[in-house]
Amino acid sequence: MDITGLIYHSHIQQTSLPNPPFSYSLPFNHELVNKEKYKSLKSDDNLDKFVKECYTKFRERNQNHRLGTLDYNPKTWTKFGLKSIVDAYKSKTDKIIFPNGCCSSENCPINKFYEIVIEEICLE
Ligand SMILES: [Zn+2]
Repeated sequence: MDITGLIYHSHIQQTSLPNPPFSYSLPFNHELVNKEKYKSLKSDDNLDKFVKECYTKFRERNQNHRLGTLDYNPKTWTKFGLKSIVDAYKSKTDKIIFPNGCCSSENCPINKFYEIVIEEICLE
């Protein structure tokens, strides 16, 4: 496995812990969630399309980004993001706490990607 793969696996493992070492919180309005779109993501084809949308937007917005954990498998990070969004939706909270096994910097690619996942699942 290459070095990015090793780092990816360690980040995923840390992110999956019941208490991940880092987290990132963002404001959230549960009323803005596009429920139809969320439901459509049960289809794996639609989920793949959604991942591509999010990742394309991420690359457009972060032109100087260096490839790493996020790029290794954006789908895994999309799933982490969606899970936190659903939890926040169900509890009608006004903030989402995303797990992060890498760091808590707002410049962390994973955190920037979570921001996009929220944007893409919410109505304009
Ligand atoms: Zn990071």
